[in-house]
Amino acid sequence: MKNLRKFVSLILVVIVVTYLSGCEIITPLTPPPQLTQEEVILLTSHSWGGNCVARWRDGAVIEVYDETNFPLLEEVLNDWNEALSGSIFLTTTDDPNEAEVTIVFGSLSSDGQAEIKWHNDLSFYEGRVIIDPIGGRNNLAIYKHEFGHIVGVYNHFAAGLMAAVVTSEEIDQEVKNYLKLLYSVPIGYCF
Ligand SMILES: [Zn+2]
Repeated sequence: MKNLRKFVSLILVVIVVTYLSGCEIITPLTPPPQLTQEEVILLTSHSWGGNCVARWRDGAVIEVYDETNFPLLEEVLNDWNEALSGSIFLTTTDDPNEAEVTIVFGSLSSDGQAEIKWHNDLSFYEGRVIIDPIGGRNNLAIYKHEFGHIVGVYNHFAAGLMAAVVTSEEIDQEVKNYLKLLYSVPIGYCF
């Protein structure tokens, strides 16, 4: 009987140790890859988290519900998915309750607007795109621009699709470089 108790306690200790070492592995604040000064500046100039990395979790599947019925939404999502090369995946849903991101119409002083909510660890969990019914309706560049904010761009770039005044419908290389950096550094890491 005594031996059995000893055995059970030993098993419990083994389980606890296994559990603790499992926790060690998922600790998010591992050191980031070696970045150049330019890369750190690019990253911290455009992150929603300022000097910290704020973004969707690795491999997140982000379902998008579109109240505005934009006919080219698939093109918008596909272009961002390609630019993100599998880090996260945007897809559409017909069920508003399943959606992480919702697109709605709303009167704005600009053509579009994007909002993001995040947890304390700086991981995103909800987004909203607001499209002005006059300036933004059926405007591919505006939808694409706002989804740039949803996937991780906060401050605007100097030119191109993610500039304050959109000058292109293409996702340029600098934005792709930024997103690659953003999704290569752990969520919540601060420079
Ligand atoms: Zn913007």
